Amino acid sequence: MKARNKDMRIFTKQRHVDEGALGLHALNDLPKSRREQVARHLSGCTHCRGRYREAEEFIHVLRAAVKRTEPRALLN
Ligand SMILES: [Zn+2]
Repeated sequence: MKARNKDMRIFTKQRHVDEGALGLHALNDLPKSRREQVARHLSGCTHCRGRYREAEEFIHVLRAAVKRTEPRALLN
């Protein structure tokens, strides 16, 4: 029973999702197994949910900026 509790503690003390994985998750560009892992962590971690929202916002801003840029103008 003691060993089991110790294992549980290790499980709940897992590391936060790293920046790269958060960004890829926001882009929906993670492999399925990793995506599920990240989604599970996000559902239980307000800290990472906040960081994830920031990543989403950042991507949203970038996409808007890319849309405003005329691609042909860059080629000339
Ligand atoms: Zn976290």
